Amino acid sequence: MQVREHDLGEIRDAVAKLCATFPMEYWRETDRERRYPTEFVRALTEAGWLSCLVPEEYGGAGLKLGAAAAILEEIQKSGANGAACHAQMYTMGTVLRHCSEAQKRKYLPRIAKGELRLQAFGITEPSAGTDTSSIRTAAVRKGDRYVVNGQKVWTSRAEHSDIMLLLARTAPREEAQKKTDGMSVFIVDMKAALGHGLTIRPIRTMINHATTEVFFDDLEVPAENLVGEEGKGFRYILDGMNAERILIGAECVGDARWFIAKATAYANERKVFGRPIGQNQGVQFPIARTYMATEAAALMVGRAAALYEKDEPCGPESNMAKQLAAEASWQAGDMCLQTHGGFGFAEEYDVERKFRETRLYSVAPVSNNLILAYLGQHVLGLPRSY
Ligand SMILES: Cc1cc2nc3c(=O)[nH]c(=O)nc-3n(C[C@H](O)[C@H](O)[C@H](O)COP(=O)(O)OP(=O)(O)OC[C@H]3O[C@@H](n4cnc5c(N)ncnc54)[C@H](O)[C@@H]3O)c2cc1C
Repeated sequence: MQVREHDLGEIRDAVAKLCATFPMEYWRETDRERRYPTEFVRALTEAGWLSCLVPEEYGGAGLKLGAAAAILEEIQKSGANGAACHAQMYTMGTVLRHCSEAQKRKYLPRIAKGELRLQAFGITEPSAGTDTSSIRTAAVRKGDRYVVNGQKVWTSRAEHSDIMLLLARTAPREEAQKKTDGMSVFIVDMKAALGHGLTIRPIRTMINHATTEVFFDDLEVPAENLVGEEGKGFRYILDGMNAERILIGAECVGDARWFIAKATAYANERKVFGRPIGQNQGVQFPIARTYMATEAAALMVGRAAALYEKDEPCGPESNMAKQLAAEASWQAGDMCLQTHGGFGFAEEYDVERKFRETRLYSVAPVSNNLILAYLGQHVLGLPRSY
């Protein structure tokens, strides 16, 4: 579907309207209880927003990445925590480019209808960390199936997803020509696997993120669930990463805009020494500075998305968009907390929750240092540092 700026405005309005039906108390409560926001995810699914990237021929809206970015930005800008569901958009980059026609026909229409959730993405492992080529989870072919053994960590939303995209080694790192060869992507039917080789253990964190550890113990995955060619999985994941970086960038821009609006309103209204605190340049300038950083980041997110939509190379822009936006949202969160003084720490202002939530994006799904290392090596031609 061709989406013009005008349509993006309509999409933004519709998403904002939906988000407004979930008051801040809803987010406070789910955060307090570390409860998955099922009602919110259901509402977004029923409205079709979570399957917006699924092509029309498979029952989705067939929107482009810029529209998905606008949707996620609006969710975050409303004060909500979109981390509960963003992965369905993140994973589409890999699914649309590398799943077979049969796999697409099997899963995409049901995802579009909201019958299946593809919210889990199992890459990170405890001993490998950022060095993905060191993963140890192994999938060994036995006839018409693969037998998977190993462990993932930080597999978010695993308990709330029907299927997972899993990266596993199908050849040991030592035997591969390149260390990134020999890894493969699988579609795992988590509901069928649970209790039959798949165990999920929640991890309690400083944010409400439904993240988990996942254990594979002789889990059998049908060979037809292999995505693309065996051994080429790392490339398939990389292919999806530019889209993921752009979408996170958009979420961070949304967070930053929420912090800026919240801080501006408070700085205008709160009076100390007989005048609004926003009259003091020590309060006003950090808000202006953050606004500037956010607008610059938003331009880079837009530029990266435009290149992606034209199928042009966009690695540097996507990485810069993610980092500039993550830095802007963290700067905005810090500024907003400071603007609120002591009240910034009170749950009822929502600042402390958003402050915690936006901090994640400087670490995951890729930490800022790794983006700098990418720019250093691939864009500037500096020596490889990792
Ligand atoms: C809440 C949460 C949700 C997550 N959800 C998912 C998920 O759904 N699926 C999934 O697969 N993963 C997920 N992750 C994992 C996330 O992608 C990783 O935490 C992240 O990539 C960093 O890896 P690590 O934690 O192993 O850090 P490490 O790799 O151990 O790195 C630790 C620190 O060292 C720095 N560092 C490491 N190597 C270098 C280097 N060469 N140069 C400079 N600095 C370096 C890093 O920048 C980082 O600051 C999640 C993480 C969190 C916290």
